Amino acid sequence: QNINLVQILDDVADRFAFQCRQQEISMFVEAPSTLPLVAADPDKLDQVLDNLVTNAIKHTPAQGIIRLVATAKQELIEVKVIDSGIGIPAKDLPRIFERFYRVDKARSRKLGGTGLGLSIAKQIIEAHGGSIWIESVVDKGTTVTFTLPRVKEGAA
Ligand code: ATP
Ligand code: MG
Repeated sequence: QNINLVQILDDVADRFAFQCRQQEISMFVEAPSTLPLVAADPDKLDQVLDNLVTNAIKHTPAQGIIRLVATAKQELIEVKVIDSGIGIPAKDLPRIFERFYRVDKARSRKLGGTGLGLSIAKQIIEAHGGSIWIESVVDKGTTVTFTLPRVKEGAA
């Protein structure tokens, strides 16, 4: 199914608008209206984005910023969920996509969750022919990037 990511990202931002306002977090969507369509299952994509945004909100203190950024690359579309939150220690990054893996038991228990979200996201993105990775600096923030194949000109 060929879908418009700008629409998907705007909808995600709408779904989380109330929660962001309550936590005094600003969320922005940055995606050009000319963004090419992607071939993806919209429900699965929502599932991925819901988890990434929930993670970002859970780990970002008040006055923080979350950006949902989509850009077209040559062969694919790149989507980034960027937060200005507490970050992930470098030692945990290599295992972050494992099932049930969560950073620091004490901190995670307080925030809830099962540790499945990122492993499911990876599964979904890879099933679409994309990839997903995470970069993070403690006390600066976290960026999760995933790619999706873009629909070829004329195939839409
Ligand atoms: P679930 O998604 O199943 O409800 P979860 O959010 O704990 O539970 P994942 O989404 O897989 O599980 O995330 C794994 C762990 O990675 C989290 O517990 C958290 O410690 C860390 N993490 C994920 N995203 C962020 C982020 N944006 N900032 C800081 N830590 C993060
Ligand atoms: Mg999660």
